[in-house]
Amino acid sequence: MPKQILILGAGYGGVLAAMSARKHLTPAEASITIVNRYSTHQIITELHRLAGGTIAEGAVALPLNKLLGSKDINIVVDGVKDIKPNEKQVVLESGAVHKYDQLVVALGSETNYFGIPGLEENSLVLKSAADANKIRAHVEDRLNAYKKSGSKADATIVVGGGGLTGVELVGEFADKLPEICRAKGIDYNDLDIYCVEAGPNILPMLPKPLIERSVESLTKRGIKFVTGVAITEATKNTVSLKDGRTIESNTIIWTGGVKGNPIVGSCGLAEDRGRSTVTQTLQSTSHPEVFLAGDCAVVFPEGGDRPYPPTAQLAWQMGELVGYNLAAQLRGGAMDKFNPVFSGTLASLGRKDGVGQIGGNGTQLKGFPASMMKEASNIRYLSHIHGLFSLVAH
Ligand code: NAD
Repeated sequence: MPKQILILGAGYGGVLAAMSARKHLTPAEASITIVNRYSTHQIITELHRLAGGTIAEGAVALPLNKLLGSKDINIVVDGVKDIKPNEKQVVLESGAVHKYDQLVVALGSETNYFGIPGLEENSLVLKSAADANKIRAHVEDRLNAYKKSGSKADATIVVGGGGLTGVELVGEFADKLPEICRAKGIDYNDLDIYCVEAGPNILPMLPKPLIERSVESLTKRGIKFVTGVAITEATKNTVSLKDGRTIESNTIIWTGGVKGNPIVGSCGLAEDRGRSTVTQTLQSTSHPEVFLAGDCAVVFPEGGDRPYPPTAQLAWQMGELVGYNLAAQLRGGAMDKFNPVFSGTLASLGRKDGVGQIGGNGTQLKGFPASMMKEASNIRYLSHIHGLFSLVAH
């Protein structure tokens, strides 16, 4: 009888774990099932482009049945309701119960609202293709309303958070909204597009020259940065700032941070502030038959005291290792330790501009080379996931 491998989540960690496990294990050795809320694998690092309207949904939402369906991987489109690690069972939102021999938890992260009053109810987020579509439609609706009413709140967009998500999103707005405004007969200069960052700088993970370059490039294209001031409250049409200011806006988009998935944090797997703790081989520290990949795990470098950041490139590498280690555990062989390769950080500032720091020596890139590099890293990912299947064991 083949062993049952159950994978929760079809983001970077889950899809790569499924592909890698299938590469190392034949169907006679293991049956692999992947559960995901959506029927697509979403390239979430490109969602800002869908929200801005630069690309179509098909470019960021790849049907799982095309990607995995013909490869002896079962796909279940459902939400995960509960993980019962002591019973080796997972309960889905539909009520279905799946038993497993080995489990991979790759459920990603959730938006963190930090308890800021009114924020969750009154803001949009950018965590899925559906969210990105909602942002695009909402912005267009408000512009149409502005054309009719002339209300300033309809011509004001507030993006909360100046991390990579917030900055890449305002970069798309700066590129695309002039064109959209022109088509609607609205003067782009009537719009106020704010990016509010609580910390002293946007993009704190990048060196100062690249931060300055980003601010300069985006300010020139109409983005207003407010830094060193936190958002403290939101209503349907206002954003309150810590310095006492209030911005009237009917479009509030929150990109202020992420937290571990609450199902994972409360299910009985050992955890640290809501994210599962793992060994160097990416097994749960409490349940060795459970492996973790992506943002829902907290992973420390061996001997280090600062965890790795929750990035797509790490989720991808974790997923690949988990697939290998599932096979090793199943056959009683030695598992490998997680030893990630950092390719760097790249941020797009619209279609033709970007900044980034790459390679071991931290080479700084700006302008077209940075945006080309970002494009290339997306293409590299897509060709990697498609190419992996030529190696699948049958
Ligand atoms: P983040 O946590 O990196 O950034 C959130 C920002 O919001 C922070 O700078 C924080 O200071 C700010 N903030 C928090 N509370 C605030 C408040 N009350 N008012 C105003 N600002 C506030 O979150 P993110 O940008 O969504 O990124 C999440 C993860 O995803 C990161 O690890 C990031 O590296 C990764 N990511 C990578 C890319 C890329 O590689 N291009 C793109 C998007 C996200």
